[in-house]
Amino acid sequence: MDPRSSTSRRSSENGASGQDAPGQDAPEHDLPAQRPSGNGAPRGGPPSPDPVFHPKKAPQEAKDRYWLHALLFLLTLASCVWTGGWQWAGRYLYYAEAGFAAQVLDGLRYAVPLLLFLTVHEFGHYFAARRHGVSTSLPYYIPFPFNGVGTFGAVIRIREPLPTTRKLFDVGAAGPLAGFVVALGTLLYALATLPPPEYLLDLPGHEALKAHINQHGAFPETMPEAGSGAVTIVVGQTPLFWALSQLFPNVPPMYEIMHYPVLFASWFGLLFTALNLLPVGQLDGGHVLYALFGKRWHGRLAHIFVLVLLASASIGFAESGPGLTAWLVSWVSPETAARSGLMSNLSWFLLAGILYYFLSRVFDGDQRFVAPALLGGVGLSVAARLVGEPLAQFGYTGWFFFCLLIVWLIKVEHPPVVHDQQLTPRRRALGWLAIAIFVLCFSLRPLHVVS
Ligand SMILES: [Zn+2]
Repeated sequence: MDPRSSTSRRSSENGASGQDAPGQDAPEHDLPAQRPSGNGAPRGGPPSPDPVFHPKKAPQEAKDRYWLHALLFLLTLASCVWTGGWQWAGRYLYYAEAGFAAQVLDGLRYAVPLLLFLTVHEFGHYFAARRHGVSTSLPYYIPFPFNGVGTFGAVIRIREPLPTTRKLFDVGAAGPLAGFVVALGTLLYALATLPPPEYLLDLPGHEALKAHINQHGAFPETMPEAGSGAVTIVVGQTPLFWALSQLFPNVPPMYEIMHYPVLFASWFGLLFTALNLLPVGQLDGGHVLYALFGKRWHGRLAHIFVLVLLASASIGFAESGPGLTAWLVSWVSPETAARSGLMSNLSWFLLAGILYYFLSRVFDGDQRFVAPALLGGVGLSVAARLVGEPLAQFGYTGWFFFCLLIVWLIKVEHPPVVHDQQLTPRRRALGWLAIAIFVLCFSLRPLHVVS
């Protein structure tokens, strides 16, 4: 238990649960060299004392509006049940017999693991912050039934700056590490309980796929034709997902996993973990990187990663750009938008404009970086249109939206902490673990639509 009075004082409000975050033992953060070794982790570390930080006011004064958090949670649950059962699982031939409850159940099989993951991720941050006496709100869940997930995730508000590198690290790393454990657990559960391929016979449409399953009792080796007008959504493979899927029978191909609610929710859990661990700005991964390697390396790697995202988005733009340009032009002149050759040519100007917008913000208008990066982005896009799949497989236009979040909200740089500290060896090990999780769960092309 944290010996400092600021935390003990709070425990009366928060109950025992506030003290015992799952998966974390008592805080060794403040005086690492003096604690007995509980688990054989390397210890010692520079004996730099953690400066005591005095919050201006006690956290319980910043009252949580419990009704609001509960309401947002319930709305998000409903939104995820709808997304899971109605948009994705979609076993309508089965629901026609088994009834409405069966579809709600499929929705819950998606929503419960997803919200469990989100909740544990956010409470990882929450408990780590409270242990350090840092005032933090409960999670605000963000319901959103129209983005294919059912939610934009959840956020907690940390009401005061994190004053030291170790506290920054603990709060930043606790969320993704705790959430990853849940996503890995639900993924293993989903893989171990997969139904045989005949499960997909309950889907409407999918005639080529169902014919193959009926004939061979197995999934097809290559993706069957979607049928005219239909689109197939292929979700991105990641090293961890691939490795684990080799160990179990009946694993569906990546273009069908959305029909398996627990499996799909777990896939989202891994994706969100990786997105949060991107080493950019004040994302969880940004905190970890800053605490591990310091401000200068954080700045370099964050810029490199934003460039990687912009490169991938530019490559994806080779395919999606003409359609996007036509859609924009159609607001002004539908006749012009119908001229596909013109739209295809105009799309290069649109790409250059989008890249200029991002690059001038990411590099603070420094033309030594903006100009070559802009040329590089457009060049990659041209190359992708020329060579097709060998390059296009790395392209995902959706990163442009993520980059909007970066320039508007997340930022590229990390603000300095008040007291710089060395991380303890145990924290360094956890930091490297977080980096490994990022590498294992990241997909440069998390989504791909085939029409
Ligand atoms: Zn987080």
